[in-house]
Amino acid sequence: MKVFTSLFLSLLLFSCDYNTQQVATEEPVDQKWTWETERFEKAVNQVRAGRDLTPKTWPNGAKVAVLLSFDVDNETVAWWDGEPTISDLSRGEYGSRVALRRVVDLLEKHNVPASFFIPALSLHLAPQMADEIKRLPRHEFAVHGWIHERNTRVPADKEREMVINAKKMLTELTGETPVGYRAPSWNFSAATPAIIQEVGFLYESSMMSDDRPYELVINGKPSGIVELPVEWILDDAPLLNPRGNNYANPRELLEVLKDEFDVAYDEGTMFLMTMHPHISGHRSRIVALEELIRYIQSKDKVWFATHQEAAEYVKAQAGLQ
Ligand SMILES: [Zn+2]
Repeated sequence: MKVFTSLFLSLLLFSCDYNTQQVATEEPVDQKWTWETERFEKAVNQVRAGRDLTPKTWPNGAKVAVLLSFDVDNETVAWWDGEPTISDLSRGEYGSRVALRRVVDLLEKHNVPASFFIPALSLHLAPQMADEIKRLPRHEFAVHGWIHERNTRVPADKEREMVINAKKMLTELTGETPVGYRAPSWNFSAATPAIIQEVGFLYESSMMSDDRPYELVINGKPSGIVELPVEWILDDAPLLNPRGNNYANPRELLEVLKDEFDVAYDEGTMFLMTMHPHISGHRSRIVALEELIRYIQSKDKVWFATHQEAAEYVKAQAGLQ
């Protein structure tokens, strides 16, 4: 009886707590219909898509550029939603301990280059990853935040400091200077556009205005920064989360990715995928990724490139300053 009473009390407390939370998090009445159109314009003009930078032809007469990126988040992403459990952290450690090697082995086997966007903390926790990645003759290291921070919750001066320090730490730990930036979880704050301009990145890869490369326009002005756009459809994280609501079978997801590639190929543009070693480096996913690489390599005139190589190429072809 005692058990039931305590269970009942727990349920009662839980439901009270739930109701309190509901009330506490309720937003004030939305009054966006009262806004002047200028307010919406200002919001969208923070970052807009500028000129299309698709070249007439890719190197060696290729029809399509294929850019594979791996965001090496490992443990850092576990802090995204608050304090992680020790189990969550072990799931991240799988990235540096097992998955990265499996990813690099696969790329090496098929002679495919890739770009590795690494939060500074992730590389600090497992610095041996730099040498693992360098086994690929054509590899790239790029900036992916300091601790995979939520930019929209960080004061502008702190965000700036973290981007600068992340670039510095990556340079120290890899011996190479990164030229690309990808915001943690693609999350730009109002300060991010000015920060990436100040730091002088060649390219950025977090926006979704196109599936072709384009020039970023910041507050109405062409920035000279190449955008290599991403898409959630081409990201392993939401669809391959076994605890998520939309879990996809890797072999079924492979069919979607083939369709995405086929249209990119027909249109003569770009196919860019975002993956994570601690997600795509699991055994059943590596099988699907290998099948995708084989499929793409079965086509003529495909240019596999790092993001840096693609950004440099489109920038030169477009005569972008
Ligand atoms: Zn990330």
